[in-house]
Amino acid sequence: MSRTFIVCGNWKMNGDTEQTLDIIKNLTQLPLDPNVEIVLAIPSIYIAYVKTMVPYNVALAAQNCWRTAKGAFTGEISGPMIKDVGAEWVILGPSERRIIFKEDDDLIAAKVEHALESGLKVIACVGENQEQKDAGLTEEVVTKQIKALVPAIGNNWQKVVLAYEPVWAIGTGVSASPQQVQEVHAAIRSWLSTNVNSDVADSVRIQYGGSVTEANATELAACADVDGFLVGSASLKPEFVDIINSSYFI
Ligand code: PEP
Repeated sequence: MSRTFIVCGNWKMNGDTEQTLDIIKNLTQLPLDPNVEIVLAIPSIYIAYVKTMVPYNVALAAQNCWRTAKGAFTGEISGPMIKDVGAEWVILGPSERRIIFKEDDDLIAAKVEHALESGLKVIACVGENQEQKDAGLTEEVVTKQIKALVPAIGNNWQKVVLAYEPVWAIGTGVSASPQQVQEVHAAIRSWLSTNVNSDVADSVRIQYGGSVTEANATELAACADVDGFLVGSASLKPEFVDIINSSYFI
């Protein structure tokens, strides 16, 4: 099964109009591997602005959305709003939303269901923390997080990318090793094969996220079950282009 490599840059709460221009200029001036699907998850307030300047082969994502289309939810944004301003994707369930904003599996599942119903594609993030890793619970934690999403995804697996993001590797400069990443991604596929079906297990794309840089991207991209990256801090730097192009010779 060939799966299109997908790299998403998550700017988090970074960037202003000037920095945005610089990042996009960098993306438009250097050659990008045409076989890679590229997504930028930018602060939602800038989606409409960035939409006017991104190359045609770069899609946009929101970094979050609420679980319903409209109503009295001050400060929130909905799936239809994200689509309306030109984004196709939304990231849901990243560790910062789970830890800082106390989002649990049920809320994340409700958001995934709403986003898919709104016609968005979803990057759904899962990952264990250091304590869980040390206790040997990685697989259990990750599959429990995915299990909670299965009813919400229903028959829409082709619109979902899973991102394995070990919390201990996010923003720490300490990436998981290619062996660790491959092991977890293979375990996710095996779980999907048993608990969803073998087509989904073979076809769903699984990104790795956690201190991906230009220096480790090629080795990580070479892992059989790594289908792309969710990149935080390095997506704000010129090296993001090298990460996008990291699977070119594989
Ligand atoms: C992230 O937040 O998705 C992430 C992986 O961050 P970083 O690349 O900075 O570790």
